[in-house]
Amino acid sequence: MEAAQPQENKYRVLVAEDSPTQRQIIMSVLSHEGFDVVLACDGIEAVTQAFSMNPDIIVLDIEMPRMNGYQVCRLLKDDRRTAHIPVVMLTSRSQETDKFWGLKTGADRYVTKDFKLTGLGSSVHELLEERGTAAAFPRRGVAHSLFSKQDEADVLSRVNDLLDRKLYEATIINEISKLNTLSEDCAITVSSVLTVIAKVTDCYVCSVLLVDELELVMHVHNAVGKEYFDLSKSQAFEAATEYLLPGTTMNELTETVDADPVFLEGEHPECDSFGSVLTIPLMARGKTIGVLTLNSPKTDAFIEDIRQVLDILEYPATVVVDNARLHEGTKRLAVTDGLTRLFNHRHFYELLEQEFLRTKRYNTQLAMIMIDIDYFKHINDTYGHQVGDDILKSMAIVIQRQVRDVDVLARYGGEEFAVLMPQTALIQAETVAERIRQAVEHNEFDAPEGKIRLTISLGIAAYPECDIGNQTGLVQVADAALYEAKKSGKNKVVVGGVK
Ligand code: GH3
Ligand code: MG
Ligand code: MG
Repeated sequence: MEAAQPQENKYRVLVAEDSPTQRQIIMSVLSHEGFDVVLACDGIEAVTQAFSMNPDIIVLDIEMPRMNGYQVCRLLKDDRRTAHIPVVMLTSRSQETDKFWGLKTGADRYVTKDFKLTGLGSSVHELLEERGTAAAFPRRGVAHSLFSKQDEADVLSRVNDLLDRKLYEATIINEISKLNTLSEDCAITVSSVLTVIAKVTDCYVCSVLLVDELELVMHVHNAVGKEYFDLSKSQAFEAATEYLLPGTTMNELTETVDADPVFLEGEHPECDSFGSVLTIPLMARGKTIGVLTLNSPKTDAFIEDIRQVLDILEYPATVVVDNARLHEGTKRLAVTDGLTRLFNHRHFYELLEQEFLRTKRYNTQLAMIMIDIDYFKHINDTYGHQVGDDILKSMAIVIQRQVRDVDVLARYGGEEFAVLMPQTALIQAETVAERIRQAVEHNEFDAPEGKIRLTISLGIAAYPECDIGNQTGLVQVADAALYEAKKSGKNKVVVGGVK
């Protein structure tokens, strides 16, 4: 080892370079610039020296025996005792890929070795200035270590630990990132992200509350019982309240719970405590798109190690969650009507086609109700189009309340709605239609000068009871029945022609 005598009031530069000739050149360049130079002949020696000599700056050759410059740099940048020391990478290669990797390891500068090493002195000066290392003066008379000296075995075991940790981190990031293309369904994707998070954080319950969508996706990873589950749910909601519109209640959330049913049964003694809660807002494009909450009945469950893992997970998890919700949002936009949020005409026909084929194949029934508001033109003429629009929105809600989740309700046209009811016979459809008619008749709609009443006319068709060959036939029969209802006085239900 060729260590120069440290001198008073000089910056100490540690230089790691395996070629004796290069070492001499670098030594003379830097000494000439007024630095106190300490030399190391390979990577391991560089690490040992970095810890024992406490240099102000480190110059690393990339290709060195035993441990290369990249590895040395990673190791030093990973240790909080040496992370602040600027590192200059020195190499004869100048390819962009080397530069990329060099900077990715945490190096601060990249200097290409040329004939006279012209860039080196200035780079070292600049970095020292940037870092304000002058504060380290006055320099100690003798080089001494602030830290215990690291022997070779110690250095190698730290490299192994680091590699292991980096590999673990890369694996987790990869596990999360590959969920990006998992499913069309946002909740399924989010739930899969949560499964990975639960595995690496030791939480019992974890959830993401999507702020704009008012959707709560929960993953239960351990047996927790109903009570603790409910507690976790309210904690997830509380964590997100500051991002929700004031007055939003938990009832407004759409919930998806991914849990082994036995995990939610009975009481779990270890789960009666408040335990630990950790929440992380997920930020994308400058706004909070969701809130991740982790729950554990254990106290102090989310220790520093787990927080570090979460730091690593946060970004890829946010990207996957954000993509999933955007993707579903775009899809939803394409199939819904902007005013009423019901399915649009086009999507209604797509669903009708699928349902009709399914009904024929499985020999079941399919009913349809066509609805048209009576004298709606009069509403627009009296109160204006805006009020007309608001009434259409309210009408959609009134009708929606009367149909089952499995039924398809669409805005068929201007003031027309259509309901598609799988596995429903004509007589059942008639009951539903009558219920809808009465609900509308009894509803009070808002108008500028107070509440107003409206009525609707309804036409019904059903397969196979009506004379229908294909899906268009179903619409035609329902339409004809609706026309009959209008013609014979409105505010009534008419059943289409039966075979
Ligand atoms: P009927 O009882 O025979 O059904 O008469 P009607 O006035 O309801 O029916 P008509 O077909 O003559 O007129 C439908 C009206 O619905 C005309 C149009 O201004 C209105 N309308 C259609 N789409 C919209 C909409 O999106 N917003 C508003 N405000 N009005 C709409
Ligand atoms: Mg009409
Ligand atoms: Mg009408």
